[in-house]
Amino acid sequence: MAEPLRLTAKSASPGIASGPAFVAERPNAAPASRAIGGYSALEKAIDISIGELEHLADGADAESRDIIDFQIEVLRDPTIAEATGARMEADENVVFAWVATLDAYIGELEAADEEQMRARAVDILDIKNRVLGALAGTPIADFPPGSVFVGKDMEPSRFLAHDWSKGGGIALFAGSTAGHVALLARAKSVPMVVGTGRFSAADGDPVRVDGDAGAVVLMAGGMLIPAPAPAQAPASDTQTESGELRTADGVPILLSININDPAEIDALDPATAGVGLMRSEFSVATIADAANEERQLAIYRRVLEQAGDRPVTIRMLDIGGDKPLAGLENLPALSTSGLRGIRLLLARPEIARVQARALLRAAVFGRLSVMLPMVTFPDEIDRMRELFREEAEKLGRRALLHRMPPIGMMVEVPSAALMLDAFGAAAFFSFGTNDLTQYLAASARDDIDADAGKVAPAVLRLLAQAVKLTAGKPVSICGDMAGNPHYLPGLLAAGLRHFSVAPARRPAIRSAIIGLNADGTRAAGE
Ligand code: PEP
Ligand code: MG
Repeated sequence: MAEPLRLTAKSASPGIASGPAFVAERPNAAPASRAIGGYSALEKAIDISIGELEHLADGADAESRDIIDFQIEVLRDPTIAEATGARMEADENVVFAWVATLDAYIGELEAADEEQMRARAVDILDIKNRVLGALAGTPIADFPPGSVFVGKDMEPSRFLAHDWSKGGGIALFAGSTAGHVALLARAKSVPMVVGTGRFSAADGDPVRVDGDAGAVVLMAGGMLIPAPAPAQAPASDTQTESGELRTADGVPILLSININDPAEIDALDPATAGVGLMRSEFSVATIADAANEERQLAIYRRVLEQAGDRPVTIRMLDIGGDKPLAGLENLPALSTSGLRGIRLLLARPEIARVQARALLRAAVFGRLSVMLPMVTFPDEIDRMRELFREEAEKLGRRALLHRMPPIGMMVEVPSAALMLDAFGAAAFFSFGTNDLTQYLAASARDDIDADAGKVAPAVLRLLAQAVKLTAGKPVSICGDMAGNPHYLPGLLAAGLRHFSVAPARRPAIRSAIIGLNADGTRAAGE
């Protein structure tokens, strides 16, 4: 029988998982592409939508069929496709050209005198979204629940679409412990290792991922190596926690959670202060999702309703740079620009406008705050606030319920951290130490792992200086540093009192806080 092969790797998320391998990518295989094409993609999406509607019409009653027939008629109307085509010629991306054309039509219907015409607006909204769904394409194929994903790297959307409740793990040839999938895996307690180097495994080969020791074990003979007893799940702390948390010397501390997948809102128990960071980019798989206001509204509404009276901070799409979005490369002027975060949103305001409307409408369902990603200059906040004001006005004209949320910023660009007193327009600040660390160290995010400890003193010093510039506004930290008890004394000493961490990190941070004084020193007897 073949000897098991043990490969040393880096632990990206603790825990141990065994299961059959799912080999996602053969060496040298072309990466899967979800790019959205041009006009022909729109024609195809319209055809798909018509097919879906015809199918729906088959079993429908007479009234529903009337509506569906009207929708099909609109989709077949050449003037709609022509208007979209004209926008595309004027340099608009297919998705936003479609949205703008249909929104103009919806606007006309909503402004009509006749009640019957106004009622048609929602039918057009429906086909707008149906075509957007078809443009978004078929999601990347899922893999069998319980298996160990083996590949060069993994897309966040693939992680998010997968059912992890049956176990399983991730072993990546390359990857990084600071990458976005590693972050998602830690948040969901999915064992993961990275940097194994390439190895050959066939689909179904038994594999063990040891996220505690940082290893992957291959059993070529088809037998699994007996796995050690499963790692003890962290005990739920809801029984022993009250909602209030204090340091040993009695200073109140807020502990919130970061969520990536909207379903993680279910981890918000009574002891959690709220959601300190929802990374909204993980709720959109393609540019067509980013153009879909209703889809985003439904996601944000669910999170806010579940949070009840606790605050929820949703960060606007942090896309671009190392966070690609399928279809983004097709937007004029963006393919090589390297824009990311708020600069990308301001360069392509059609993306920001859709999200602003969804957020403004969602705000009536809970205690929403909106956070801007990768802010570098104060005028970026002014421009985004103006965009929110314009969209709020439009919603008002359409008599759609909405509320203006407080708008704050991530502090994750060193120049912004140094100049925080210049950001008077921000309602609050949250430190993003993941990006702050890489930019301070002049290193790529994927390369900084090994030196993160060496850079930490510089990050802590910068945080301490920046906290002094916040002029009494609410301040929190939502980068990974907040979830590492090792850095807690330094973060408390820097003056931070609000920590937002992945749900799985909360118990460890909570017990660390109780054992420390507010100045970061160890409590007597600890
Ligand atoms: C950060 O940079 O610390 C942060 C919280 O943002 P993200 O990890 O999503 O880049
Ligand atoms: Mg960041």
